[in-house]
Amino acid sequence: MAKYIFVTGGVTSSLGKGIISASLAKLLQARGLKVTIQKFDPYINVDPGTLNPYEHGECYVTEDGAETDLDLGHYERFLNIFTSQANNVTTGRIYQTVINKEREGAYLGKTVQVIPHITDEIKRRMLLLGKSGFDIVITELGGTVGDIESLPFIEAVRQLQWELPDEDCLVVHLTLVPYLKAAKELKTKPTQHSVKLLSQEGVNPDIIVCRTERPLTPEIRRKIALFCNVKVDAVIESADAATIYEVPLTMMREKLDQICLKKLAIQNYHEPELGKWKEFLDKLKYPKNKVNIGLIGKYIELQDAYKSILEAFVHAGAINECSVNVVNIHSEFISEENVNEKLHNLDGLLVAPGFGMRGIEGKILAVKYARENNLPFFGICLGMQMSVIEFARNVLHLKDAHSTEMNADTTHAVIDLMEEQKKVTAKGGTMRLGAYPCHLKAGSRAKQIYGSDTISERHRHRWEFNNDYLQAFEENGMIASGRNPESGLVEIIELNGHPYFVGVQYHPELKSTVENPHPLFVSFIDAAKNFAEEKNASKRPSLQSETI
Ligand code: GLN
Repeated sequence: MAKYIFVTGGVTSSLGKGIISASLAKLLQARGLKVTIQKFDPYINVDPGTLNPYEHGECYVTEDGAETDLDLGHYERFLNIFTSQANNVTTGRIYQTVINKEREGAYLGKTVQVIPHITDEIKRRMLLLGKSGFDIVITELGGTVGDIESLPFIEAVRQLQWELPDEDCLVVHLTLVPYLKAAKELKTKPTQHSVKLLSQEGVNPDIIVCRTERPLTPEIRRKIALFCNVKVDAVIESADAATIYEVPLTMMREKLDQICLKKLAIQNYHEPELGKWKEFLDKLKYPKNKVNIGLIGKYIELQDAYKSILEAFVHAGAINECSVNVVNIHSEFISEENVNEKLHNLDGLLVAPGFGMRGIEGKILAVKYARENNLPFFGICLGMQMSVIEFARNVLHLKDAHSTEMNADTTHAVIDLMEEQKKVTAKGGTMRLGAYPCHLKAGSRAKQIYGSDTISERHRHRWEFNNDYLQAFEENGMIASGRNPESGLVEIIELNGHPYFVGVQYHPELKSTVENPHPLFVSFIDAAKNFAEEKNASKRPSLQSETI
């Protein structure tokens, strides 16, 4: 029988519920328990796949092709396990299920209502993963306590708290304890209010995790305990950390895992085994080298849009004992005139995934610069497609080469809509999604990097390399080093004679974890390190993380 931990949030959004949930899960996993995490989001979209990154950050894709919240990326990166469609549920999906059942006649004669029908469906999904052999299922509730749309989720937690045995369920509430400079004091009132709100909705938290910029004094802890009906040791300090990967250790110092184990009456565990994790943190904290990597994208001002890429850099940097300084470069503002000036200090260039016309020509100019200047290049999805267009235009001299996504009338559609996509009209969940196998060409760089013949990577796209042009590309030095064994779709391109020029149609960033940094990111950072070493380091001005 699984036990259930619910994580709610109060006071404001962006307190890091995902990181706290993932850190707690990590500690419990390190103690030998089988743990998973799921996210319940109160918005009405069936999934975040149709949301603009400006609205919701990156859309994370699971092995089974679910388009999900970016917190699932944190869960996978921390726990080194796969999540699935079942790990992300929205209000939209809940209502869709209930309404479909109503249409089928499942509730014949009954009025379908929020309570019990919607809450029953929420509870059914909250308990679902508990039937797959996990010891603990952590459920993170999106949104902030007090939001109208999160009410049915809180109500479902309230009911479960009564229905499940006492020791099978607990609630962790994450709040903010702000420091008021003028008063020189930490303030507990917002926490008191948010716990009060939660209690009014029928849920009494067992543990309060306090996000704070300053240490909580014993007096503050006592005050929060007194007003919020918890024991003093259940008031947990979560101070700002230098990196999110430090949080499991700070939570361990605060004994968050031990308090959970006690309340859940779990006895079968050992001391946390965090050797590999600590090794990674050490390397992350004390790098021996530094590289400047340009991240070319159009959502550059919003770091959440490229979350998994940024985290994959952290993992690959640590294993290379190298600090990765990401220089954010807005593709819309790259022009022929300024491309040299913007890119000449870089040691590597990653062209990001994306959709639509905006910023395309800037991406193509950046690829050209990397190709011509032997600058390590890594293109992901749209970034790979842009490298194909650049090669077609400037090496194969197909001047109007393009993707039909941006120019339906191009005479050289080197990137074209996939055959199976041609009949697709609906937008939600209809891309080529999730894990597909890819066969690697003997003697290629890709094969050398992965060290195997066949790999599996996750996809999210509608367009692809047009195989009518493959021969011309390969004869001129851009080879397809990875292809789908069944359909022949080109999944990886690489450039002969370039120190590092790799484009992938899939999203390797989604599979990079602390314990398994992605081989492509690791080799890319290694190539950037070599590039940096070859340059006269002393002559280069150092770059800070910045937006150009
Ligand atoms: N827009 C491109 C396509 O659909 C690339 C998608 C992506 O970068 N994820 O094929």
